[in-house]
Amino acid sequence: MNWAARRGRLVDQLLERESLDSETERAMRAVPRHAFVPESKREAAYEDRPLPIGEGQTISAPHMVAIMTDLLDLSAGDRVLEIGTGCGYHAAVTAEIVGPGKVCSVEYHDSLARDAGDNLRRVGAGDISIRVGDGREGWEAHAPYDRVYLTCAAEEFPRPVRNQVAVDGIVLGPVERSGLSITGNGQVLVRARKQADGSLDPETHGGVRFVPLQ
Ligand code: SAH
Repeated sequence: MNWAARRGRLVDQLLERESLDSETERAMRAVPRHAFVPESKREAAYEDRPLPIGEGQTISAPHMVAIMTDLLDLSAGDRVLEIGTGCGYHAAVTAEIVGPGKVCSVEYHDSLARDAGDNLRRVGAGDISIRVGDGREGWEAHAPYDRVYLTCAAEEFPRPVRNQVAVDGIVLGPVERSGLSITGNGQVLVRARKQADGSLDPETHGGVRFVPLQ
């Protein structure tokens, strides 16, 4: 089976389990995940699971990218910051919805940032801006952002990141339960909307497992 057919089948499977927004579905059908995974893992690109991408990191499972994309409630023209570029796949899905020149991403590992840039250029999404550094600082130069999401788990959303979200904007990401004073181990996916007074109004969306922020 060719890549497009495999991808179509995967998205059909996701839709049986999750109700996805039509724009999320369109982006998941459009972005070639196989172009973002290492050659040796390519055969598994359209299985619904994380895969190693080097530096001890992983590309998130497709259902997690779809769920996060849905929760971000993206519209064309939204300015988006991603913390944790990894291989660039999730950023490409986001850019598919918000359009060219709107997505910025920060990656801690130099080698992953370089590979992500190559992957994105190869699929025609070379307009996504990538910075190597600590995502805890966000990316002030392009702030404010309508949407910010983290693909690595934090104790809480870092203050610079919170400051860089526009009022009415959304910040989304995995947060350690301990940081939220929720009992139990592990992480929950938290989505928070920024209020006019600058505070965040958080809601939790179930248990998740992401790599920790470095
Ligand atoms: N969005 C990615 C998922 C990457 S996994 C994808 O589609 O593949 C999480 C990524 O966060 C890893 O690449 C890891 O190196 C990065 N990361 C971890 N800590 C970070 C930090 N402090 N700042 C920026 N990136 C970080």
